[in-house]
Amino acid sequence: LLVVVAVLTTGCGGPTGKEGATWNLVVVTFDTTRADHVGHLGYSLGTTPRMDALARDGLAFSSAYSTSSWTAPSHASLFTGLYPTDHGCRAAVGTDSDVILGLGQERTTLAETCQAAGMATGAFVGGPALSHALGFSQGFDVYDDDFAGPQRSARATNEAAIPWLHEVGQSRFFLFLNYFDPHGPYEPDPSIDYPFGSQPVDVPAYTSFSPGVTKRDELPLPEDPAEIDRLIERYDQEIYAADRALGRLIDELTRMEILDRTLIVVTSDHGESFGETVGTVLWGHGLVPYQVQCHVPLVVRIPGQKRRRGVVVEETVSQVDLLASLTSLLGLSRPTGIPASDLLGRREAIAPGALCERYLTQGYCRAIVGQEFMMVRIVRPDPKRERETLLSLGPEPSLLPIRRITDKDTSLAPDLVEKARGILEDLRSIESRLTGRHGGLAPVLEPPDPAEMQPLSHEAEEKLRLLGYIK
Ligand SMILES: [Zn+2]
Repeated sequence: LLVVVAVLTTGCGGPTGKEGATWNLVVVTFDTTRADHVGHLGYSLGTTPRMDALARDGLAFSSAYSTSSWTAPSHASLFTGLYPTDHGCRAAVGTDSDVILGLGQERTTLAETCQAAGMATGAFVGGPALSHALGFSQGFDVYDDDFAGPQRSARATNEAAIPWLHEVGQSRFFLFLNYFDPHGPYEPDPSIDYPFGSQPVDVPAYTSFSPGVTKRDELPLPEDPAEIDRLIERYDQEIYAADRALGRLIDELTRMEILDRTLIVVTSDHGESFGETVGTVLWGHGLVPYQVQCHVPLVVRIPGQKRRRGVVVEETVSQVDLLASLTSLLGLSRPTGIPASDLLGRREAIAPGALCERYLTQGYCRAIVGQEFMMVRIVRPDPKRERETLLSLGPEPSLLPIRRITDKDTSLAPDLVEKARGILEDLRSIESRLTGRHGGLAPVLEPPDPAEMQPLSHEAEEKLRLLGYIK
């Protein structure tokens, strides 16, 4: 397992905010939380009462996409405002090569920007994919990824973070929290009184499955629909546990009388699959960036903004644009090379669309997401193995191989072919607009040069192994 250092981008520029120039910033990621399992986006179980309350008090994005289907590249985009192709942090998971590329020190991160502006910066994470060994600690005064075992609960993450909050809370700060509970294995805390699901929590033999596993026969996965429901129920309980921790954090900010000068962002780094069929059967995450892997919740509570309370933004947006939106609102400098964006300001300024990328050992997958459809392209060094698929968005995506559209397959209805061509044209224009904004975005086809890499620590490697990310 290896870590490589990426290429250079430094410097500052861009607009500055006024009212936000004294605000604190809190960014919370619920790991592995799919958009369609949170309350304010339509899930009825009551998994996220505290996140929903924030949404009522702020902006909620109903069609937000992470830039990747795995923790490390997705968080690297949140922190740099760059797509995986550009920031260089990527993983070829579930392969024989076990290659994970860290976030290069040359990148300018949100934490570095906050630190340069004199803010106290602290991060408290619950999973190994955000290990400091992968480059995520840059810009943080305190980076707490020190816990026994492969993961730590949101409750324990709070216990580490809240004393720090008390230490720095009366000066300006940036706090980042990663609540890892919803990530497998699904072992909900039995001491929590869940408002749904069966109690007590029984745990059958399979409590998780390896990321990257796409075939049922690779692991003893549930066959019985009732067992799959039980698995999902435990996943939902883990989301609820993360939401409780969010509530505890917000209560603390209120008690400290700093909630009203703290900008709060709650989102997730990717989704999770439970046997959905999209051409192939999907389990876990870190896979081809279909909707279920990359559609995530995104809630932003802006202090003192009455007119932006309870607003739901339906346009498709990418988390990649969050960094520039936050720096602008907080009066911080925007790192050079990051396009301006205004997700949190004038809605008419949002140009809908998102890209989601996942690197393979050789080649990559890229999804181009529009408002009602997405296109998934799988590219390998051998062009004959390139594949493009058009999918409708929604709970049961219909799927159309693009070759059938372009080859004028006579078994397809002419009006369907016509419609599909129009959709494709729209998605390709979204792609060229988004890649243009980001300076071209030419994805990498070949694996990295081992000579340029440095090894990951044994401890970080072991934690990733325990969660099934490496073999
Ligand atoms: Zn994750």
